[in-house]
Amino acid sequence: MKRVVIIKYGELSTKSDNINFFLKTLKNNVDKKLEGFNYEIKYDHGRMLIFTEDVLQVKNKLQEVFGIHEICDGYLYEERSLESIKTNVLNIIKDLEFNTFKITVKRSDKNYMGTSITIATDIGAYVLKNIPNIKVDVTSPDINVIVEIRLNEVLIYAKGIPGLGGYPVSTLGKGLLMLSGGIDSPVAGYLAIKRGVKIEAVYFDSPPHTSPMALKKVEDLARVLAKYNGGEVKIHVVCFTKIQEEIIKNIPKNYLITMMRRMMYRISALICGSINAHAIINGESIGQVASQTLKSMQVINEAVKMPVLRPLCTYDKLEIIELSKKIGTYDISIRPYEDCCTIFVPEHPVINPDVNLAHEYETLVDFDSLVYEAIKGRTILHIKDHKENNFSDLL
Ligand code: ATP
Ligand code: MG
Repeated sequence: MKRVVIIKYGELSTKSDNINFFLKTLKNNVDKKLEGFNYEIKYDHGRMLIFTEDVLQVKNKLQEVFGIHEICDGYLYEERSLESIKTNVLNIIKDLEFNTFKITVKRSDKNYMGTSITIATDIGAYVLKNIPNIKVDVTSPDINVIVEIRLNEVLIYAKGIPGLGGYPVSTLGKGLLMLSGGIDSPVAGYLAIKRGVKIEAVYFDSPPHTSPMALKKVEDLARVLAKYNGGEVKIHVVCFTKIQEEIIKNIPKNYLITMMRRMMYRISALICGSINAHAIINGESIGQVASQTLKSMQVINEAVKMPVLRPLCTYDKLEIIELSKKIGTYDISIRPYEDCCTIFVPEHPVINPDVNLAHEYETLVDFDSLVYEAIKGRTILHIKDHKENNFSDLL
């Protein structure tokens, strides 16, 4: 008998044109996730079989991989007699907790005696005889035991756990996440990764106005995202201090945030160009703050041509919090350090900004040089999901 973990793809399997590319990427992602384990992967009729003795740990790890719809725990036997199938099914399920069950038989070996239904009935009767107080329920059983009779072996599996869904990371290109220390942006990043987008991150730092602990928080958030992002997130740390100070010195208070955000967008778009990313991703949500009214978003967005994805644009804050708790970023996000947007928030930021005024204000400061300088001086941190491997590049 061999222990096997079965990966089902779900939505992935409908992408018939480039299924091989999706599968290859998924396999690479699984290989990366299972580094250090002893296992062997085989493709098998629209799913993958992973042979391993470390079933529990492997299943846990696979729950961090996008592009997997369901993960099942299975057993592969060489003995194919009906008697051996019956005892094996019983052995597998006798310690599971359930009241109702169903046996589903699939025969890829059509010469195996009987029909799928008669075999299932036989196995079911044997189980009923040997486990007290259980019932058959064919519509919504607590467990559905699948018995696949193949040419030279029998595969039996019972309980599946849901995978994360989505697409394998990297299959849909690269995006740049504007990652602040808040609750929203890591969740936005997670949702983009879910759809197959590999992310890098940009963080706008404002020393000495912001604490180094704010950057540390962003690194810790990136480390959580790295788990889902193929093991690493690169953070482009951009010093925003000078731009921010010039804006505060030269631009009317109610437009501070509009202008700061236009500059953040501009810098992000330029970084996208240099890393071959096709979109900016951020944690904006319609109406959450003054800079996130539709009009504000339009005027801020106008600073760039690059598409800006806002995975959370229709989410309520409570929904975002719930998701951040689920993915493990919430406790990091609520640490008290302020980021550069929160320290200079004016009392009455404009909620209905005028794009012509934004253009006019942009002539008051030599933003081109400041943006160029900020990008040139950025630091790139390589944040791995294992803490010890992190390092940084100075540009
Ligand atoms: P978050 O909870 O993610 O901080 P927020 O509700 O505080 O979001 P804003 O501060 O208005 O909202 O920022 C909106 C989005 O802009 C953030 O979700 C993030 O994507 C981006 N952003 C804000 N500040 C920074 C920063 N210092 N560095 C990088 N991105 C930022
Ligand atoms: Mg914020």
